[in-house]
Amino acid sequence: MAGTYTFTIIKPGAVANEHIGPIINVINSNGFHISALKLIRLRTAQASKFYEVHKDRPFYKDLIEFMTSGPIVVAILEKENAVDDYRKLIGNTDPSKADEGTIRKLFAQSVQKNAVHGSDSDENARIESDFFFSKSERFSIFDERDF
Ligand code: ADP
Ligand code: MG
Repeated sequence: MAGTYTFTIIKPGAVANEHIGPIINVINSNGFHISALKLIRLRTAQASKFYEVHKDRPFYKDLIEFMTSGPIVVAILEKENAVDDYRKLIGNTDPSKADEGTIRKLFAQSVQKNAVHGSDSDENARIESDFFFSKSERFSIFDERDF
C-alpha cells in the first residue's frame, strides 16, 4: 500500500521571497494535511548528509551552499498516496519544464533554486521525516503509529 505521508522543504530562495504562505496554501488546497512544520537553518554537515546521494554530481557543492544560505521550512505532509501526489504537485526539477500550476512553475527561480523539495519514495519520506522531526513534533490525522 502506498504511504500516507511525504516530507517537504521550502528552500531558502522561496523563504526569502516570502513564499512560505503561498506555497502552504497550494499544499493545503491540494488536499495535503500539515502534520509537522518548522523553520530552521541547515548546517553544512546536515545539508551534505541530506543530499549525500548527489555527492558526485557537479552541482553538489553549490547546492549545499544554497541550502545553508538561509532559513528553510521543513514539513511532513499527509494524504493518501502522498509521495506520488506531491511529486506531481511540485513539478519537474527544472522549472522551465514544470507544468502550469505546479509549485515549481509558480515559485521556482532556477533549477537549483526550485522552491521546494519532495521525497521521491516512501522509504525516503520516512528517512527524511525522521531526520528532522521527533515523535512529539508530529500530529497525524491518520494514525500516530504511521510514523
Ligand atoms: P528533485 O529535487 O526534483 O528530486 P534531484 O533529486 O535530481 O531533483 O536534485 C536535488 C536538487 O539538486 C534539486 O531539487 C535542485 O535543487 C538541485 N539540482 C538538481 N539538478 C541540478 C542541476 N542540473 N543544476 C543545479 N542544481 C540542480
Ligand atoms: Mg530528489
